[in-house]
Amino acid sequence: MPRTPAVARYRGRFAPSPSGPLHLGSIVAALGSYLQARVNGGEWLLRIENIDPPRELPGAADAIQRELVRLGLEWDGEVCFQAQRVAAYRAALAQLEAAGLVYACVCSRRDAGLGPYPGTCRGRARAPSAPASLRLRVGPAPVTIQDRLQGGYSQILAQACGDFVVWRADNWPAYHLAVVVDDAWAGVTEIVRGADLLDSSPRQRYLQQCLGLPAPRYCHLPLVLDLDGSKLSKLALAAPVAGNSASMVLAQALRFLGHPPPTDALGAAPSALLAWAISAWSLAQVPLQSRRPEG
Ligand SMILES: [Zn+2]
Repeated sequence: MPRTPAVARYRGRFAPSPSGPLHLGSIVAALGSYLQARVNGGEWLLRIENIDPPRELPGAADAIQRELVRLGLEWDGEVCFQAQRVAAYRAALAQLEAAGLVYACVCSRRDAGLGPYPGTCRGRARAPSAPASLRLRVGPAPVTIQDRLQGGYSQILAQACGDFVVWRADNWPAYHLAVVVDDAWAGVTEIVRGADLLDSSPRQRYLQQCLGLPAPRYCHLPLVLDLDGSKLSKLALAAPVAGNSASMVLAQALRFLGHPPPTDALGAAPSALLAWAISAWSLAQVPLQSRRPEG
């Protein structure tokens, strides 16, 4: 059962995967979601998205928590670990199956091709012996979200991605299913995250509709780009921020988010810098453009 209270209080979250240490791009997402939660008098939750063991780096989940604490970004309540929530994802899957929305797919990545999944396995009876992924049927109607920074964003899922995987052939839930189930369970009211996930939002909204879950608001922040214009990512071994002073890291993230701290705040402790940021924070000041960080 979702633990959503009757009157929804603002709840935000930061949801890193433990595939490496935090880098500036993930700090920007953490800080933006933290400030939105604090400015709205809400709670800020931490969820470790550890449902992809081959991509997990041992020790990364602990390192992420230590780094957030060092930066003064303290979350509310217990950390949620997705690997402990598989029963909830299975229950959601059962709900989709009962509604006749799911079918088994035995296509290899190569069979499925690069474009939208063509629906090859739609009519096929489930083959119980072969490892199969499970796909969710999508319809022809557009699915739209209103993003607080990026504006209206719409996809016709049949054209954008086709029937998408909700349960993987390695018997783990797919990312979109886990995210949607957890956000509803935790009572998250607004999702603030990097703009690389904007195009995931219609799939997540569609899953919320299929599962009868409340629709959170969305706010996709600009991405920190690397020297070559690609998104910083843990997998690309972007420089972790742990070597820099906490105040330096926060100031750099704040500048990136359009909130340059005043000169006299620069040497301040993280808690003082965050207090200044909470007093100054306004979404209207956040630039839309993904770009390289200024110094
Ligand atoms: Zn297939």
